[in-house]
Amino acid sequence: MTAQREATRKDDVELAGLENLGVELGPTGRPLTDFPEPKALTAHGPARVIALCNQKGGVGKTTTTISLGAALAGYGRRVLAVDFDPQGALSAGLGVQTHDVTTIYDLLLGSSKDVAAAIQPTSTPGLDVIPANIDLSAAEVHLVNEVAREQILARVLRQVTADYDVVLIDCQPSLGLLTVNALTAAHGVLIPLECEFFALRGVALLVETIDKVRDRLNPAIELDGILATMYDPRTLHSREVLERVVEAFGDQVLETVINRTVKFPDASVAATPITEFAPDHHAAEQYRQLARELVHRHAVA
Ligand code: ADP
Ligand code: MG
Repeated sequence: MTAQREATRKDDVELAGLENLGVELGPTGRPLTDFPEPKALTAHGPARVIALCNQKGGVGKTTTTISLGAALAGYGRRVLAVDFDPQGALSAGLGVQTHDVTTIYDLLLGSSKDVAAAIQPTSTPGLDVIPANIDLSAAEVHLVNEVAREQILARVLRQVTADYDVVLIDCQPSLGLLTVNALTAAHGVLIPLECEFFALRGVALLVETIDKVRDRLNPAIELDGILATMYDPRTLHSREVLERVVEAFGDQVLETVINRTVKFPDASVAATPITEFAPDHHAAEQYRQLARELVHRHAVA
């Protein structure tokens, strides 16, 4: 953070009288909100579909899908996570079978029509998954000549959205036909951004892709938020990147920020969501906060 910006921020706080009230500023420079615990739901569905999207790899899409999914399930939401990356990291991270089972690829290609049969439970009550494996890497080639090839995932998911409160699609790191399918099936997009130097590179192209999908395929799609991940409050670099992200996207940047911690790789090895692997760790609390913020913003029921 530059000294000047720090001074401005301090002035803002003093002008607003927030300092005297003892209001603490969060990492995005806004006062920290204590998002309330979501109210219990008395009925479930139809689900809101959220695509977790960024064509850059290693920014926290899969980790966020797992951790947010588990946190929402912990608040009594019925969650379906869809592995939409041929690497199958979501399926592995949730500890489910990906071989000799029906995968999202079979559903897209129509070789299996029974979507419900492809859904596997996880060790987290309320969190289910449709798995993927490397077969999915052939999907773009096979689907390219299909009629309405961008709407295939939407058609598949429509069969099961009544049973869930939220569907989270873990996209692959590309802006190809699979990602366009995810954006066409989605009500909202969540963009995880790693707090690193090149974080903003490529985001303009992603936003352009979302705009094209809104124009041509899915007029109702919304940007639910930009989630800063792998934030290290001890480094000036991390703070500067976050400041730049907030300058570029304003209130679209979620107030919740996910810190960098080795607990996430550890949780992946254990194939367990962080909220169960280390429920008392601040990283688990940050994902519970993200869940509360998204309910508060009406991105999730
Ligand atoms: P993506 O799905 O965007 O490629 P992942 O969620 O797989 O990204 O994350 C990439 C790697 O970074 C994984 O090894 C994951 O365990 C790790 N990781 C994710 N989030 C964090 C975090 N907040 N702190 C530290 N490591 C993280
Ligand atoms: Mg991933």
